[in-house]
Amino acid sequence: MNSLNLILTPKSLSLSLSLSPHLLFFLLPKITSSSFPTIPFRRNPTPILNNNLRMMMMLNSTTPSPCRTFQTDPSRPSSSGEIHVFVGPMFAGKTTSLLRRLQSESSNGRNVAVIKSNKDTRYGLDSIVTHDGEKFPCLALTNLASFKQKLGVDAYVKLDVIGIDEAQFFGDLYDFCHEAADYDGKTVIVAGLDGNYLRRSFGSVLDIIPLADSVTKLASRCEICGKRALFTLRKTQEKEIELIGGADLYMPVCRQHYVDGQAAVEATRYAVASQKAECAPIHK
Ligand SMILES: [Zn+2]
Repeated sequence: MNSLNLILTPKSLSLSLSLSPHLLFFLLPKITSSSFPTIPFRRNPTPILNNNLRMMMMLNSTTPSPCRTFQTDPSRPSSSGEIHVFVGPMFAGKTTSLLRRLQSESSNGRNVAVIKSNKDTRYGLDSIVTHDGEKFPCLALTNLASFKQKLGVDAYVKLDVIGIDEAQFFGDLYDFCHEAADYDGKTVIVAGLDGNYLRRSFGSVLDIIPLADSVTKLASRCEICGKRALFTLRKTQEKEIELIGGADLYMPVCRQHYVDGQAAVEATRYAVASQKAECAPIHK
């Protein structure tokens, strides 16, 4: 895919958002990183030294002074980026919140790109689709490290905002967000599951909380009682952690119905396993 084909104007943005969006990102003629006033930027902060280490450095004349470790990189933007995270169970509106935020950013004239994992092929690989059917064009990637190369370095430099959907599938989420926000001055909006169907940390989503400017935990409605739902119950007996599916496999549930549902699924699994064991032929 040629990245130039993806460049649209602000006018086409508003059309694309209200009608049928056919764009990946919006590259607008605006201030780029090179036009910001330069402020000395320290890529490798000097660590706090304890007294022993400080003394060793004073005694060893070949050891460079900590002051010499200050580095300025003129290619780095002087403005710092941001990281905002949307987490929650399935059907909580994470993708919708991500797209709304991206629409708002692009309406303000910022250049936006969206990434999703290529593991989720339910709606094709060229668009993000919310559970409500809203579509948004995107890049589907195996890992985030390949984003800059796929997009092109020039396009990356002009980019202001990067959206990441289904972030739990990206093992390099921490490194990417850290680099993009801390050193490249990007605003990164992340949407992903904080927990898997066992309510354990999913992928690297929780790892980026210490990096984040804001974290929003969204809730759905319990499919059984209608109360606030913060958990995802897998309705089937498969045990693999990454099992991609929609309402056929998962449902949002409240705490009580998560506990009851898990117990029911476990009981069913046990009953099926017992039945299989009884029916298995005996080999002599
Ligand atoms: Zn419930």
